[in-house]
Amino acid sequence: MAEVQTLEQRFESITVQDENYDSNAPVVQHKAKGALNPAISLSNLSAAASQNRLKLPLQKLPTNATGGKIAHSSAVNTTITKITLPSQAAQRSSAESRPSDADPLALTQQPPLPKAKQFHLGMFEIGKPLGKGKFGRVYLARERSTGFVCALKVLHKTELQQGKVEKQVRREIEIQSNLAHPNILRLYGHFHDSKRIFLILEFAGKGELYKHLRKAQKFPEWQAAQYIAQMASALKYLHKKHVMHRDIKPENILVGLHGEIKISDFGWSVHAPNNRRNTMCGTLDYLPPEMIKPNREENWYSEKVDLWSLGVLTYEFLVGEAPFEDTPVMTQRRIARGEMSVPSFVSAEARDLIKRLLVLDPEKRIPLEEVEKHPWILKHCVKGERAFQRASGDGKKVRGDGVQ
Ligand code: ATP
Ligand code: MG
Repeated sequence: MAEVQTLEQRFESITVQDENYDSNAPVVQHKAKGALNPAISLSNLSAAASQNRLKLPLQKLPTNATGGKIAHSSAVNTTITKITLPSQAAQRSSAESRPSDADPLALTQQPPLPKAKQFHLGMFEIGKPLGKGKFGRVYLARERSTGFVCALKVLHKTELQQGKVEKQVRREIEIQSNLAHPNILRLYGHFHDSKRIFLILEFAGKGELYKHLRKAQKFPEWQAAQYIAQMASALKYLHKKHVMHRDIKPENILVGLHGEIKISDFGWSVHAPNNRRNTMCGTLDYLPPEMIKPNREENWYSEKVDLWSLGVLTYEFLVGEAPFEDTPVMTQRRIARGEMSVPSFVSAEARDLIKRLLVLDPEKRIPLEEVEKHPWILKHCVKGERAFQRASGDGKKVRGDGVQ
């Protein structure tokens, strides 16, 4: 109990400092052209915290809505437990040779965690902050008895209430905890105390795809193709489970230790379209035409919205900006008309896939099964993206590690 208390106090008084971050993720120093917000390095989290970063905000909330207590704590210099990932050094060296073999986390394979109802804060050592969202902060954490490394997301109940997102969070938990796919961020469990909700999430060791994209400005075709193949695989899995994500964009994709992508943020995945639209004013770029047309019936659209977003994503990966980026009015107009042009440096195969995804009529968009077999994907994913994901102990890896 005393230990729990100590941890609780530490949560309340944690000064966001980066004492030991040893990320594999490249440090993002420069701002890419058209960057919408300063790119923040994970090794510079104190700066990130002080800037109260909001990226492409869907909803504007009072600045104290996020981790207020932590952010405004009087800098009690509490030392955050140093979680040396047993794997970090090993992961780095093993990534080249025996990726999954030597990966003690094996995060997508075996959650050696006790049953969800048994979780409580005292079971976890809390490590460095990984980031901050609108409603909470995320810390690296380790379950004490098993050494299982995860990301612990801390949400303050009062802030969820103020933001009127309790239902959304509940949905997110329900949906995400029932999903298990290598390209979808796992939610292993959750627990709460009187003030907070804690989500036990898979640790995505290479952080946000958004940052990698901003750093690279655009991805080479092979890398974009591998990412899109992984996205298609994840979306196929979701759609089979009748889950529409509805908020596919680089900000909602994390990157695992081996460069594999992890879709996260299921907050909008089963939400009524009108709810979403009311809060979408900052992020029109990924909305499909059937969601912006005023005279459509609510709930009219289907999981095919994710296909449109996949087309936008493909374009953005290859070009560095979204196809309909413009003033909000113009973006809406252009989406409704499907008005976009693919720059000439994009290969003919990629252009073909983009054009088959960005089709106004949802029924005519290329289905995910065909995306996986599209010439552009086949060309760059020789072994298929599943081989890439497994990258199993045979030492063979499909081209590159994505974000190295
Ligand atoms: P929003 O509140 O708009 O959803 P967000 O997705 O950035 O924003 P969180 O999900 O709270 O908010 O995450 C905050 C940040 O913490 C992320 O942007 C990411 O950098 C980091 N992060 C979150 N979850 C993980 C994770 N499982 N592994 C590694 N880093 C993570
Ligand atoms: Mg999020």
